[in-house]
Amino acid sequence: MSAELVIVGAGPAGAAAALAAARHGLSPLVIDEQSEPGGQVFRRPPPELDGGGVRGAYRWGERLLERFAGDSRIRCRSATTAWGVFQEGDARAQIEGPGGARSTGRDGRRRSGLAVALHGPGGAELIDTGALVIATGAYELPVPFPGWTLPGVLSAGGAQAFVKAQRLRPAERVVLAGSHPLLLLVADQLLSAGARIAEVAVARPRLSLRERLTGVRAAPGHAAVMREAAAALLRLRRARVPIRWSTIVTGAAGEAALERVRLAAVDTDWRVRPGSERELVCDGLVLGYGFAPAVELAAQAGCGLRWSAPDGGWVVRHDEDMRTDVPGVYAAGEPTGVTGAEQAAAEGTLAGLAIVRDLAGRPALEAEINAARGALRRARRFSAVVNEVFALRPEALAALVSHDTLVCRCERVRAAEVRQLLAAPPFPRSANAVKLAVRTGMGLCQGRYCERAVAQLVAAGGEPQQRFTSRLPVKPVPLSALAALDRTCTQTTQFEP
Ligand SMILES: Cc1cc2nc3c(=O)[nH]c(=O)nc-3n(C[C@H](O)[C@H](O)[C@H](O)COP(=O)(O)OP(=O)(O)OC[C@H]3O[C@@H](n4cnc5c(N)ncnc54)[C@H](O)[C@@H]3O)c2cc1C
Repeated sequence: MSAELVIVGAGPAGAAAALAAARHGLSPLVIDEQSEPGGQVFRRPPPELDGGGVRGAYRWGERLLERFAGDSRIRCRSATTAWGVFQEGDARAQIEGPGGARSTGRDGRRRSGLAVALHGPGGAELIDTGALVIATGAYELPVPFPGWTLPGVLSAGGAQAFVKAQRLRPAERVVLAGSHPLLLLVADQLLSAGARIAEVAVARPRLSLRERLTGVRAAPGHAAVMREAAAALLRLRRARVPIRWSTIVTGAAGEAALERVRLAAVDTDWRVRPGSERELVCDGLVLGYGFAPAVELAAQAGCGLRWSAPDGGWVVRHDEDMRTDVPGVYAAGEPTGVTGAEQAAAEGTLAGLAIVRDLAGRPALEAEINAARGALRRARRFSAVVNEVFALRPEALAALVSHDTLVCRCERVRAAEVRQLLAAPPFPRSANAVKLAVRTGMGLCQGRYCERAVAQLVAAGGEPQQRFTSRLPVKPVPLSALAALDRTCTQTTQFEP
């Protein structure tokens, strides 16, 4: 099958890219692993559970999704994973056997040289495409500490998914800990779902006057988000939820599941103040330290990355119109930096317009492109402030990892094993070398959980500026699907003699 434009991700970035491209006559094919479009921020319950709209500050998201659903030019594949990008002459040739694919298929259509590998309810397939937008969003940043893998310990987005998508309460008595502002929104959502909030522990100190003033200066155009955050805070205060700043979680314990957490007071660099540790009884611990861009598909496609700590770590390099280093491949939304839904949508629009211009050579789009660049600049002003104010302290987080702490939960590798490896000849100095030696990152999550922790150990507590090489398939795919794909290719593709 072929499509003139494939977009991976139906969050605000992917949806906005599809709408911009469709408005100018293209027919995008949008792929998403979820059963409904909307991405993380606009996650909704399935129709059987009442459908539910998008919350307060994100009414614009509801309109975006309505236009997305109503545009007959946009085709969607839900519950479908994009697990690799092939370019003619390299990996595609590996799948299709010696000789590789011709640039013209049996149907006589010209191939662009890019193909996206999918796996969904119908099995695996390759889609040839003229352009690809990678709008794969972000992951929550895992922060290991003793007990973080116990049942009952959840990420903020995971807890939110229970409430938003399933109308379920993940625990009865909950402690929330971390440093990201999402934590307060999730506390409010859990409260309204009937949970008791034992404490919200925020690692950074209370906002200073200077930080509040900076926030106010960045607020124009973002009043709805600020109002929503203020309303959540007010509801938490009314419910007498203790919000403790300069407080960090240092451990979680329990027999078969979480029973209690250990909290400690910290200084401005989040270093634990000796003697300040205390315990709280709870059956749910929700962690929210922020997000890391999901860049593995972009990296596997050959796009260049750069390290940007304020934007969440490794981000996809791109020009001002969202073109990556790989011709035909664009990036939008969180893979270019964790900067929120509004900036993601603005980047998506810009990428969609750039594709229209690049594919169809339409210079008349200049005014629209300039407007999209303006929207992006406004969104960036706000996200830059949020990222600066809530910046992580990686050294302090690294100090929470005891020798016994699991860093790779899939392969059950503890910090001691990695530290021992790093301290012995030949003294490996790369995350990839650690992966080869002790299997961190070789499990089902392919490093999404442990990459940062391993890089942090390699960096001995400094900035974890390393990553595992992203290889095909970037997400788990059944072998049977790959075998079927091999037959499909053999049957439908002409080979060089
Ligand atoms: C768990 C979680 C919860 C969040 N909750 C909030 C919130 O409440 N409020 C807020 O302001 N921000 C929230 N964020 C931040 C939020 O992600 C962004 O602000 C915004 O959604 C970014 O939009 P996006 O389009 O870049 O990515 P997303 O909205 O994350 O959309 C990316 C989409 O790509 C899909 N995808 C990824 N990889 C593949 C693949 N290989 N194949 C197929 N599909 C793929 C995903 O299923 C997802 O639907 C959350 C983030 C996460 C990770």
